Amino acid sequence: MRVVDIIQKKRDNIELTKQEIDVLFDGYLENKVPDYQMSAFLMAVYFNSMTEDELTYITLKMRDSGDIINFENIDKFLVDKHSTGGVGDKVTIALAPILSALGMGTAKLSGKGLGHTGGTIDKFESIKGFEFSQTKEDLVNIANKTGIGLMGYSDKIVPLDKKIYGLRDVTATVKSIPLIASSIMSKKLAIQSDVIILDVKVGDGAFAKNLEEGKLLAKHMIEIGRGANRDVKVVLTNMDEPLGFNVGNATEIIEAIEFLKGNSSEDLKEVIYSIASLALKSKKEITNLEDGYKLIDEVIENGSALNKLREFIKESGGDDNLVNDYSLLPRYKYTKEVYLKQGYIKRIHTENVGKAAMVIGAGRAFKDDVIDHGVGILIHKKVGGYISDDKEIVAEIFYNSEDKIEEAYNLLVNSFEITDEKVEPQKAILEIIE
Ligand code: URA
Repeated sequence: MRVVDIIQKKRDNIELTKQEIDVLFDGYLENKVPDYQMSAFLMAVYFNSMTEDELTYITLKMRDSGDIINFENIDKFLVDKHSTGGVGDKVTIALAPILSALGMGTAKLSGKGLGHTGGTIDKFESIKGFEFSQTKEDLVNIANKTGIGLMGYSDKIVPLDKKIYGLRDVTATVKSIPLIASSIMSKKLAIQSDVIILDVKVGDGAFAKNLEEGKLLAKHMIEIGRGANRDVKVVLTNMDEPLGFNVGNATEIIEAIEFLKGNSSEDLKEVIYSIASLALKSKKEITNLEDGYKLIDEVIENGSALNKLREFIKESGGDDNLVNDYSLLPRYKYTKEVYLKQGYIKRIHTENVGKAAMVIGAGRAFKDDVIDHGVGILIHKKVGGYISDDKEIVAEIFYNSEDKIEEAYNLLVNSFEITDEKVEPQKAILEIIE
């Protein structure tokens, strides 16, 4: 069987057999199929997509290219929550302790931020001394103790996805919905869980720019889950403005801690409560999602969720006193305020807010860039917010170096669209697919 014939078949939009997929993907992993042939194949997928059977088979193949993590001795209901990548997305930091306080466990591989989106690993690494589990054994151990099992991706988990993602990055094929679906799901399938809850971000700051694309991505991931016998739920959430108020690392940790103390923005609350309720429903502890809200309120009000976060920080090598003393976290030296003309905020170009945060060092332009954990952006006014005059602070940039502050400032200022007409605030949850 010749690889060129397999590429031609995909080019002509004909479904591939399992054997053909084996030849192409096994060959690529073993360096027998060159990058240029895999590139041509990926571009054919970009234009022609994949069938459900192809997608499931390729995803399982990627999963099986590396280690699989099983939690043999955990008797908790395990939740793997995954976000497709957003700006200001601190959901995991607050959600994982809530799930733990509710008697469930989190089993999750987390990523580092790249480009305009942040990563949970970077946020936790703001904490001095904090180290993520390095091995499967460490992960199981900490998940047993605290109910929170988070680990960074390693080279041993889904190496085939890593290799293909690297190629997609330089062949303009990252933004293919089926390829994104199989890339994400290969990593979800590589770790044991009882339910996979996908937070599919939709909007300016996300891979899926509109609801239609978001639903297509959700559909592919649900199909892959079905093919792999896994329970997958999806929450489609708004990324046409940053989630919550802060975009950064230490500042997002603080916002998540405040969440667990009962102080939250509405949008962040909607997202976290919906996902935690979905987990409770999937565990069959409740029948209506609304019933979950009371239970979540309880673990926030009685402090048990915050205590779970403290335990997790302590077990991971950090000083858990930081939950009451934010000076233990990295800080910034300077503040630059953003003022705009009077009016309602109509849109926030979220990708540019993420880029502004990246430019001051809160994120990475390139994989090996070093993060400045103390810096960030604070959004005071979100979509629908009214600016009464040009003396009202709309946003603030917290930074440590004058180097790129002008570039960040311009990106941030230009990300706000103002209108004279009244604008309704945006909904955080666009749709839930159970
Ligand atoms: N996240 C992934 O893991 N893979 C993609 O292709 C896109 C986002």
